[in-house]
Amino acid sequence: MKVLKFGGTSVADSKSINKVVAILNNNDDNLLIIVSAFGGVTNLLQECINLKGKSTEGILKEIETRHLEVIDNLSSLDGQSSLKSFLKEKLNELEDILDAISTIDEVTQKIISKVLTLGEILSSSIIYEILKQKRFDISYLDSKEVIYSKSFNNNEVLDNDRSSISIKNKLDLIKSKLIIAPGYICSNENNEISNLGRGGSDYSAAIFAKYSNAKSLEIWTDVSGVYSANPKIVKKALPIEYLSYKEAMELSFFGAKVIYFPTLQPLIEENIPVYIKNTFKPNDNGTCISNSTKLDGDEIVKGISHIEDISIINFEGSGMVGVPGFSKRFFESLSIHKINVVMITQASSEFSICIAVDSNDAISAKKVIDKEFEFEITQNRINQAQIESNLSNIAIVGDKMKSKKGVSGRLFNSLGQNNVNIRAIAQGASERNISIIIDEVNTKKALNSLHETFFEENLKDVHVFITGVGNVGGFLIEQIKIQREFIATNLKLNLKVLGISNSKKMLVSESEIDLDNWKDLLNNSIINADSETFQKRILDLNLRNSLFVDNTASDLIPNTYRGILKKWNWYHNL
Ligand code: ASP
Repeated sequence: MKVLKFGGTSVADSKSINKVVAILNNNDDNLLIIVSAFGGVTNLLQECINLKGKSTEGILKEIETRHLEVIDNLSSLDGQSSLKSFLKEKLNELEDILDAISTIDEVTQKIISKVLTLGEILSSSIIYEILKQKRFDISYLDSKEVIYSKSFNNNEVLDNDRSSISIKNKLDLIKSKLIIAPGYICSNENNEISNLGRGGSDYSAAIFAKYSNAKSLEIWTDVSGVYSANPKIVKKALPIEYLSYKEAMELSFFGAKVIYFPTLQPLIEENIPVYIKNTFKPNDNGTCISNSTKLDGDEIVKGISHIEDISIINFEGSGMVGVPGFSKRFFESLSIHKINVVMITQASSEFSICIAVDSNDAISAKKVIDKEFEFEITQNRINQAQIESNLSNIAIVGDKMKSKKGVSGRLFNSLGQNNVNIRAIAQGASERNISIIIDEVNTKKALNSLHETFFEENLKDVHVFITGVGNVGGFLIEQIKIQREFIATNLKLNLKVLGISNSKKMLVSESEIDLDNWKDLLNNSIINADSETFQKRILDLNLRNSLFVDNTASDLIPNTYRGILKKWNWYHNL
């Protein structure tokens, strides 16, 4: 048996569900498929809760339209009326709940779960009927009857024993080749409907894979695997072919969105491989996550992950030096208030401790710490906690980093050369992960510099900005055009001209200027030349490996050198 999980984008509408059907048709194994809510529906349901049930007509209409589109396009005419009345019935129930919330102006956890799980109830029931109509030998498995949570230390966690027995018992009774179950949904210890947390369908699939002794878990999504960095920010990022469980866990914790963080634990225990596949490009390799070192390549760094909206909390004072139990009090106070700590650093002088938290938690974290150490603070032995915000956390991850010297050196060098200041650093003893905190404005530059350092050693992008394109400058551009290929092959430098200015007009943007056509582009530019604006735009782009070329005879342009050199960190070298 294989478990296949289809995420929200894979079941967003009739077109994508058709792709899912094709994937199922191409499989000969017995399959257990787990589906998310139709893409975006859980967010709409969450919005109804945020609005406390008030003025939600538009949202309900949108939810209805999304599901009707699938029923109208994929169900046989015979099947449509029963599916439509099922949808109507569920939406009426939802409307009743929202009316009640709006009247009493209060939302309980139980109600929240009831509302949020509706997306998966609808998607799994509709897809089940459609697959049945298409003559798949299929059964429906209700996840709330087999996956159970329990409370532990005030947190809702998976009840492994109860879930394991229920899943096994139920699966023993089902003989069909295909089984469908809703993701995300479970029951709590009072047998009330509950959920496994946002993004939790991956976790549902992993639980089913573990307790059905599946030979593999496939997570079907809208990207071709886990990427070496976020491809929206790093254009040259590529899917990673193989990851160990631990590497994948580090990357998913540090912001790689492709896999929900708790998913891997149940699979590690049973050594079940996970394949991340693209529903829209099913022939792409995707990423295989397993513990097989045989499959592993030679790469030292496998991926670069990041989380934005981070704040650091600095807490310092002589009162903490050599005081046993200090850290216990510090972290216990945060844990009692459910504040998640993303990163920790403490220098061996023990004079200060620094933690990174989600910016939404920063003020509460400060309050909690200041309260815990109120006495020491009033005695001036410790200072109040200081918050610094607008930061991001970047982690480079790879199992093999521990056996290789100089990885952190390359990291610091790459960032230092591009004027990215590192605010805090942490490296665990496992050496699988080096994490740094930097100013959020530098995130894109830092990710691209690091990606270039660890993944694209063969070709380095150099961003060129040229002012003055008369005789000399014009020839320079022609020369770049002619020699670009030679320079790329022989010097491993990819020259990209991103800015050109003459005394009348200028062009600056993040995309390369077409050098076959630069004169027309410049003459037709709507931006009038102005050396200060040219400089400001270049600096605002904040790109790594930037070059400024002055081909003018002007006395004014040299006045801008200082600003540019300072920003690019060359000034102190002069
Ligand atoms: N539908 C839920 C969510 O959007 C669970 C999932 O799709 O994984 O969070």
